[in-house]
Amino acid sequence: MKRRNFLAAASALPLIGCSPAPGDIAGGFVGASHERGHLLRGEKRGIPQPSSTQRTRMVILGGGVAGLAAARALRLRGIDDFALLELEDSAGGNSRGGQVGGIACPLGAHYLPVPGDDAAAVQDLLEELGVRQRVAGRWAYDERHLCHSPQERLFIDGQWQEGLLPLQDMDTATLADYRRFAGLVQQASSQARFTIPASKSPLAQSQLALDAITFEAWLDRQRLASPALRWYLDYCCRDDYGAGLASVSAWAGLHYFASRHGFQAPGEPAPAERDGGVLTWPEGNGWLTRQLAAPLGHRLKTGRVVLRVAAGKHSVEVDALNAATGTVERWQAAQCVLALPLFIAARVTENPPPALRQAAAALRYAPWLVANLHLGAALHDRPGAAPSWDSVLYNPGGDPRFPGLGYVDAMHQSLQSVPGETVLTYYRAFGLAPAQRQDLYARPWAHWRDAVLAELAVPHPDLPDKATRLEVMRYGHAMSVPVPGLRGNAALRALQQPQPAPWQRLHFAHSDLAGYSVFEEAFSQGHGRGMALA
Ligand SMILES: Cc1cc2nc3c(=O)[nH]c(=O)nc-3n(C[C@H](O)[C@H](O)[C@H](O)COP(=O)(O)OP(=O)(O)OC[C@H]3O[C@@H](n4cnc5c(N)ncnc54)[C@H](O)[C@@H]3O)c2cc1C
Repeated sequence: MKRRNFLAAASALPLIGCSPAPGDIAGGFVGASHERGHLLRGEKRGIPQPSSTQRTRMVILGGGVAGLAAARALRLRGIDDFALLELEDSAGGNSRGGQVGGIACPLGAHYLPVPGDDAAAVQDLLEELGVRQRVAGRWAYDERHLCHSPQERLFIDGQWQEGLLPLQDMDTATLADYRRFAGLVQQASSQARFTIPASKSPLAQSQLALDAITFEAWLDRQRLASPALRWYLDYCCRDDYGAGLASVSAWAGLHYFASRHGFQAPGEPAPAERDGGVLTWPEGNGWLTRQLAAPLGHRLKTGRVVLRVAAGKHSVEVDALNAATGTVERWQAAQCVLALPLFIAARVTENPPPALRQAAAALRYAPWLVANLHLGAALHDRPGAAPSWDSVLYNPGGDPRFPGLGYVDAMHQSLQSVPGETVLTYYRAFGLAPAQRQDLYARPWAHWRDAVLAELAVPHPDLPDKATRLEVMRYGHAMSVPVPGLRGNAALRALQQPQPAPWQRLHFAHSDLAGYSVFEEAFSQGHGRGMALA
């Protein structure tokens, strides 16, 4: 029986049994960064003096995508004498994977669009990992990792539609706004290049003007007022940038489309821009970071909280707390790559370079929550679009029932013919209001369990019956939001260059340097710094 038919048949069955009390659903918070990260705040008097000193040629601080890319670049250059210090118990940062009920699932990032030629370093990585191959003179991507169809669906007016652009009851004014927006994306692309990584294209005047205002202000100026278009664009910004169109710059809002797939209005031909599809894995981009971490062996030191970095004339000194032993280890290295979020780099560096202070002050971070929900059996489904990789709930005007970004299905790429047990990975981005971060940490796990179940039970009334476990990952400073002004920020650009004395032994590599956070930016930063280290 085909998956779609099976679900249609299943949805006709009456709901059997009673919902378990939410208390029957096991789970808790995962990830250690909150407690360990807070060691860096304020009171450091209880922290012991270093009890050992180790020497290495290079030390990399932070084992997210950027730090792992820097380590790979050193390996490619035949440099083995380095150590990578990571706060968490495993590498990967925001691109880690996990498991719930024995099913692999993402703890953060879940996909990588097929990279274009501007992200050559990412293309090389995918080639090295066997994901990209030359077949009959053309580049081909491994079908197991290209996202299978159907990819996306939207829950709107009580049913599922294919794709995420709202089409239900589309009136002529909405269609006209969709078409006009598509034209404006085209126009922006013809005025200047939108590349990933963004640093590959020069700072054009037209883009600096877009960077000076919010996306919302730009839409106002264009008189693009359709609630459906506004909802869709807001969703895209929250999904990629962690905050909505009132927070991000117009450059960021247009970059989302112009750098990748363009914007296709209903009934219009697909834009000419490249769109090679999306790569995804059950554990999301955790698959990529696991491959990057695997060859590091003993050079990867997890559970190390970097507390202090001091740049000297002849070496860099790094003190890190070993979370397992409670002792502080001192590292002395000729060169140091800080692949840390810039607000942390600024906090741990003694006498930080002015550009680091200025850049850290300019960045705004969005908190995120990722909840992995294990289901013991497949959900009944409503008529409409079939179960997809990504399912999103339409929320025009901020319907408080649907504050999240929807969920992805960790079993989507599996080849099982009949849907069954799975894990849904639910995402929520909290934007820039400071109270949201406090809320995220202050509320108990049971609060988030109830909130996630209540939201997902609207499209799936049988979901609470089938949920067995829910694990919640909290990111207080998940990603820097591309607010107006970042594209032209001189301090961010200065940190991507060799540093002047006395900081010439420090090298900065993190997605923060791009002003927004995606795999290709993080990887390119780390790769670039790793390849340039002397
Ligand atoms: C929920 C979520 C979903 C996302 N989804 C996607 C997606 O689908 N596709 C995509 O391309 N991008 C996505 N992103 C963005 C993507 O995950 C990031 O761009 C990328 O992983 C960032 O890598 P990084 O190395 O720059 O930073 P980070 O991941 O922030 O890495 C920094 C590392 O430094 C460590 N660290 C911090 N402080 C210390 C310290 N004092 N001592 C030692 N180590 C320290 C951290 O633990 C971390 O491992 C998502 C991000 C989030 C939060």
